[in-house]
Amino acid sequence: MNRFEVITPADVASASRLLAEDGYVALAGGVDVVDLSKQNIVSPPTLVNLKGLKELGGIELRSSGDLRLGATVKLSEVAEHPAIRAKFTAIAEAAGEAATPQIRNLGTVGGNLLQRPRCWYFRNPDVLCLKKGGDTCYSIGGLNRYHAILGGGPSFIVHPSNLAPALIAMRASATIVGPAGQRAVELEKFFTLPTVDPKRENSLKPGEIITEVIVPAPSAGVRSHYLEAREKQSFDWPLVSVAIVLDGGSTVRDARVVMGAVAPVPWRSPEAEAALKGGPLDESRARSAAEAALKDAQPMSDNAYKVVIAKVIVRRAILHTAGLEAA
Ligand SMILES: Cc1cc2nc3c(=O)[nH]c(=O)nc-3n(C[C@H](O)[C@H](O)[C@H](O)COP(=O)(O)OP(=O)(O)OC[C@H]3O[C@@H](n4cnc5c(N)ncnc54)[C@H](O)[C@@H]3O)c2cc1C
Repeated sequence: MNRFEVITPADVASASRLLAEDGYVALAGGVDVVDLSKQNIVSPPTLVNLKGLKELGGIELRSSGDLRLGATVKLSEVAEHPAIRAKFTAIAEAAGEAATPQIRNLGTVGGNLLQRPRCWYFRNPDVLCLKKGGDTCYSIGGLNRYHAILGGGPSFIVHPSNLAPALIAMRASATIVGPAGQRAVELEKFFTLPTVDPKRENSLKPGEIITEVIVPAPSAGVRSHYLEAREKQSFDWPLVSVAIVLDGGSTVRDARVVMGAVAPVPWRSPEAEAALKGGPLDESRARSAAEAALKDAQPMSDNAYKVVIAKVIVRRAILHTAGLEAA
């Protein structure tokens, strides 16, 4: 592992100026960035410490009902916050299912959204894959049991963040500050497919910092739920996850279905959402929505099992959100 320095800037503007230079990388909880340094996948000479910057902290439930999560708020704080659990349930559940209690006490909202993929070829310092500037995605014809079943190509990583699908399902946007000023971007549009640039997973530019995430107030009848399946129960990234938001009573007026760990970006399914609307919500409608969510799945040689799991997870999550027992 390379030697590195840590600089703690006085404010976001100074942090952004540093991060616009080569050789400076942001440090939040440090869980992923230090891991990547140990594996020599990134070797920044200088880490810019974002912890302690006032503008990046705090959970606020505004009088409008909107939720503001500062970028350096910890996953454990999100998971345990009573108002988030009550009104933004899927977000609290997603944070609470991530990693271990120790990692949730370090990992932050911004870092969770920006963590790099878990692909074993990408994480292997001896492999120059497409994501690291090579010309091959070794999951094709290689070991691909954890890789994409939707939206893959030319790279087949899956997006690792628990928070991302839940935040997208609840229509969250991120505030980003950088050399060109401040911008707000819907998280649904923030993550980018490998067809845009296989080396990247999002549209953050040099010097840009996520300062906060804003989740609009859900209307009165809205219920949400996050569910994941993983290989071992103790801790692990999900094999498949899904966040469901339902608006309406026994007949759904509006729905959001966003899957995680199935595609290089959090994968929203308008097909599943359409299948949920317009008639009484029951087991059969939930099953149709789950089928619709995976209808375009293109499993690789070793991961067809993920399609089966995803259908079960989506159906169960819908039934749970609706207050109906999952079969
Ligand atoms: C064993 C293990 C299991 C895990 N399981 C899960 C899981 O099941 N689900 C899950 O979602 N996660 C999981 N994680 C990831 C963990 O939850 C952390 O969220 C994640 O590693 C990064 O959070 P961090 O705050 O430490 O970010 P850091 O490592 O500090 O940063 C991550 C990246 O984001 C950049 N960055 C951080 N904050 C900002 C910002 N505000 N603006 C601009 N750039 C920024 C950094 O430069 C870096 O590139 C797991 C981690 C481990 C080690």
